[in-house]
Amino acid sequence: MVRDTKLYDQLGVPPTADEGQLKKAYRKLALQYHPDKNPNAGEKFKEISHAYDVLSDPDKRKVYDTYGEEGLQGGGMGGGVDAHDLFSELFGGGGMFGGRGRRGPSGPRRGRDMAHALSLSLEDLYKGKKVKLQVSKNVICATCDGKGGKEGAVKQCTRCHGHGVEVEMRQMGPMIQQIQHQCRTCGGSGEMIDPRDKCTKCNGKKTLHEHKLLEVNVDRGMKDGQKITFAGEGDQAPGIIPGDIVMVIQEKKHDRFRRNGDDLFYEAEIDLITALAGGSIHIKHLDDRTLNVSILPGEVIKPGETKVIDSQGMPSHRHHNMGNLFVQFKLRFPEPNWTSEENIKALEGLLPPRQPLPTLPSSTHTEEVVLSAVDAHHQKRMNAAEEAMDEEYEDAQQGPGVQCAQQ
Ligand SMILES: [Zn+2]
Ligand SMILES: [Zn+2]
Repeated sequence: MVRDTKLYDQLGVPPTADEGQLKKAYRKLALQYHPDKNPNAGEKFKEISHAYDVLSDPDKRKVYDTYGEEGLQGGGMGGGVDAHDLFSELFGGGGMFGGRGRRGPSGPRRGRDMAHALSLSLEDLYKGKKVKLQVSKNVICATCDGKGGKEGAVKQCTRCHGHGVEVEMRQMGPMIQQIQHQCRTCGGSGEMIDPRDKCTKCNGKKTLHEHKLLEVNVDRGMKDGQKITFAGEGDQAPGIIPGDIVMVIQEKKHDRFRRNGDDLFYEAEIDLITALAGGSIHIKHLDDRTLNVSILPGEVIKPGETKVIDSQGMPSHRHHNMGNLFVQFKLRFPEPNWTSEENIKALEGLLPPRQPLPTLPSSTHTEEVVLSAVDAHHQKRMNAAEEAMDEEYEDAQQGPGVQCAQQ
């Protein structure tokens, strides 16, 4: 059941028309009434464009079907679209006329939007997901149609004359004080209803609290902070256009991948032998795949080096391409004294030779010194030095310091 068929009539389609029928009807009429062809039919062209703009948008169509045209005039639903812009959008050749004239919000008051956080794993955002979410909201009581009781049963409160507040004058010595408080008879609603005529379903409150299951389609590649809007699904109340329910995506931290836009970053630890002589690593991806990554013999991966695997990042939202997967390598070196003296000798024959030391002038005094491991005491001194250097750096950042006094 639709409240008003005007827009459907303008396009010459039944209220049950599907997307295809609407588009076909609009194309036919738009070509017929376009001002280029038919300069005297300007208004008609605007009318059909407006009708198509509303009915071709499922959200706007729903609002129109439920509330009629006044429902579309609230904020948020975008008022109206320029007929010419719409025409160019559908037929190509934009910029024929230029200028987008959007009307500002007017008409009935619009209810508040309700935001819900939707916490999702990187896996969910990689694969896409349908999430069923239960939301609780106020809906117009269907039994009394939001009237609170029988037709005509709701009357203006006689005590406050519909204002919902009472003003009381109080004599305070020589002064008269005006005190405003909520009307005791109607509780601030400004209305009165005979208890016998009250709607038994909502007890005269006009709305009911209801749980509703919303199915949220999380597309592949959606990002943290991205919003999914359910137009007009906010709290209902008589005389207002319900606001939207807005789902805000929150991406959970991942234990293997970091994400930046459509790119993924992964840290892989490999053995020294793999870095030098090749081998392979497994990267468990965000779907059920495991990537087998080959490191070629002789490729030589250096500590901290980053390589990239093309198109194995996140799917790009609403585009048909993929981000990249960046792999940063950490090297697992052998433990001290990992092998025999002979083996180390053999290594010397295999690895590239040592860089020779520069020849020193004969007058140079050289001294033999020994490297030791850093112990707790050393560590403390290292930390202190680091702090001091940080402070020096900060001082330097703070502009001119104490100037040298000169005689
Ligand atoms: Zn009252
Ligand atoms: Zn009711």
